[in-house]
Amino acid sequence: DRPPRLLRAFIFPREGEVGREEVDNSATQRTIRVMQWNILAQALGEGMDSFVNCPLEALNWAERKYLILEEILTYRPHILCLQEVDHYFDTFQPILASLGYRGNFCPKPWSPCLDVEGNNGPDGCALFYDEARFDLVDSVNVRLCAVLIPTNQVAVVTTLRCRVTGRRLCVAVTHLKARSGWECLRSAQGSDLLQNLTTLTQSPGGPSGPIGTAPDTPLLVCGDFNAVPSEDVYQRFASSPLILDSAYKRLSRDGLSEPAYTTWKIRPTGECCTTLDYIWYSREAFSVDAVLDMPTEEQIGPNRLPSYIYPSDHLSLVCDFSFKKQEE
Ligand code: NDP
Ligand code: CA
Repeated sequence: DRPPRLLRAFIFPREGEVGREEVDNSATQRTIRVMQWNILAQALGEGMDSFVNCPLEALNWAERKYLILEEILTYRPHILCLQEVDHYFDTFQPILASLGYRGNFCPKPWSPCLDVEGNNGPDGCALFYDEARFDLVDSVNVRLCAVLIPTNQVAVVTTLRCRVTGRRLCVAVTHLKARSGWECLRSAQGSDLLQNLTTLTQSPGGPSGPIGTAPDTPLLVCGDFNAVPSEDVYQRFASSPLILDSAYKRLSRDGLSEPAYTTWKIRPTGECCTTLDYIWYSREAFSVDAVLDMPTEEQIGPNRLPSYIYPSDHLSLVCDFSFKKQEE
């Protein structure tokens, strides 16, 4: 018998908010649901990660892929941002296409998956969107640089037009360099991504706004930043002239703190319970209408993640956004 799934509730941060800002009429139908998730590359999970309390059997791809798909289909996001995808062409692209999603994939130039025997190709970032809801305007794959030197980390940046509101938005997914000791590299990669996003969100041919104003096209940036909130790269995003905010802060009572963890695993070096994953959004353009709560320590269980009930060491982040009322 399989143990029960992780049951998680949506929190509605705007409820009871005093002086809440106006949103477009019929906002509930206009909700844009976004999922951010590092799904754990199959080759890394089986070959490199050494999650000591997770039996190899629980990582068997033939079953684990259904747990990943089940998680996605439980929430049915309009926009799905994934990291560590090493089964894009043989699994996620065809299955999600049959469910109405279109995707773009950017493999890492030298994916560590390629060092694992029997690997399924490089891992990378994938960005899917619901084709019934969005038209594709443009999508680019970006190799992140650190002070002009190309690195092994990438991003997919896709500009979409919402078919309900007619409004454009720019969505990015990234996975920054892992491990401690690489804080400076992550910071440089974050700067490069912000620089790319600044260029890509300026209206084509139009004059760029003054420094410190919101971009022409509002942004959603999803990622496994491999950085805790005190790190430089987080601070760069939080204080960027693009005027971004981190959606999961809305889970906290004061609206100012990130959750206690987005990943929780046990390696031979010890337990790792930390916040590394974020959904950044243009604060002036979007409201956060709902945030999927994190499971409790008890729900996650003593062996932590991944496990028979949850297929990745990272938890999915799911938020509902709506466009704020457009200025006349
Ligand atoms: P990263 O250091 O960013 O990490 C790669 C993956 O390892 C991530 O998915 C990360 O997961 C996971 N990881 C993090 N911590 C640990 C840990 N303690 N134990 C096991 N896995 C962990 O990778 P790079 O992009 O820098 O690539 C590293 C590898 O790529 C090298 O080992 C090398 O084999 C290869 N490479 C080859 C090059 C070449 O010239 N041929 C050049 C560059 C790299 P998470 O994000 O979830 O923490
Ligand atoms: Ca990983």
